[in-house]
Amino acid sequence: MNKTMHIALCLLLAVPALFLPRAASWAADLTEADFALTQITDRIHVIYGPFDLPDRSNHGFRNNPVIVLTSAGAVVFDPGGSAWAGEMVVGKVRSLTRQPIVAVFNSHAHGDHWLGNEGIRRTYPDALIYGHPAMKARVEGADGRYWLELIERLTEGSAGGAQAIGPDTAVNDGDVIAIGDTRFRVYHTGPAHTDSDIMVEVVGENALLTGDVVRNGLLGIMESDASFAGNIAAIDSIVQKSFEYYIPGHGLVGGVDMARHYRSYLDTVLTTVRKLYAEQLADFEMKPMVIEAVSLYRGWAGFELRVGPHVSRAFLEVEAEEF
Ligand SMILES: [Zn+2]
Repeated sequence: MNKTMHIALCLLLAVPALFLPRAASWAADLTEADFALTQITDRIHVIYGPFDLPDRSNHGFRNNPVIVLTSAGAVVFDPGGSAWAGEMVVGKVRSLTRQPIVAVFNSHAHGDHWLGNEGIRRTYPDALIYGHPAMKARVEGADGRYWLELIERLTEGSAGGAQAIGPDTAVNDGDVIAIGDTRFRVYHTGPAHTDSDIMVEVVGENALLTGDVVRNGLLGIMESDASFAGNIAAIDSIVQKSFEYYIPGHGLVGGVDMARHYRSYLDTVLTTVRKLYAEQLADFEMKPMVIEAVSLYRGWAGFELRVGPHVSRAFLEVEAEEF
């Protein structure tokens, strides 16, 4: 099975398990009014995305776009999973400031985080879009078209997208981007959730935008470019900095304990798989034991769907460690 078929099948199978109780999803198409801004600090606002998979009613919107207000204009981190979502974010920014969106950061190459670039660019064609070099290459390659077509198909065309617009400006670990009176410090610690993750500190706000390196309440895909060990190491490095606000790619904003809680999930999967690998179990034999080990996370959306593939992914990682 190729990657496209595999993901499409996973998404289809996931529908009953992943929908949170949200009547609006079934009743009618969601509008901008269905999504509220939540203020985190003086300058930072987040729009909490629903946990539902992309469908016609949600227009492909499901992540946490973050708006940072600077003296030069607004900066958006992860403007959503569709052109529709990007335009929705533009509407939210306009409710906060009369200044334009001057820049966008993309956390990684999964389409639910960056397809909104198109919606931003329709109104603000000059907004710079920052991302990791690996992400830029992925969107310019086959992944860009793949995600665009997948989301358009799953949303039955309600995502409103026509173009895969990725980053135009590459940033990497240690870069500090000054925008107006605000500085944004970029972190990349190697492959983690993907090979193209960046996390961004809003300097002076005690806040870190983590993308999917940290998640809260929703498990997601870990594909061939992911690394459990790398994701754990990435969380260790940012937890040491003790930010007040960790703003995850999905789920509620929290402190250090929230970040540690997701680390614990990843670590439990990896260490359990490593132990069972030493006992020469096959990955399908490990699955019930790993599920038992991470039963604390059973209430997270996506649990039933994702744990099996996570075991397989961790198995390959442990196998690679042996050679
Ligand atoms: Zn992701």
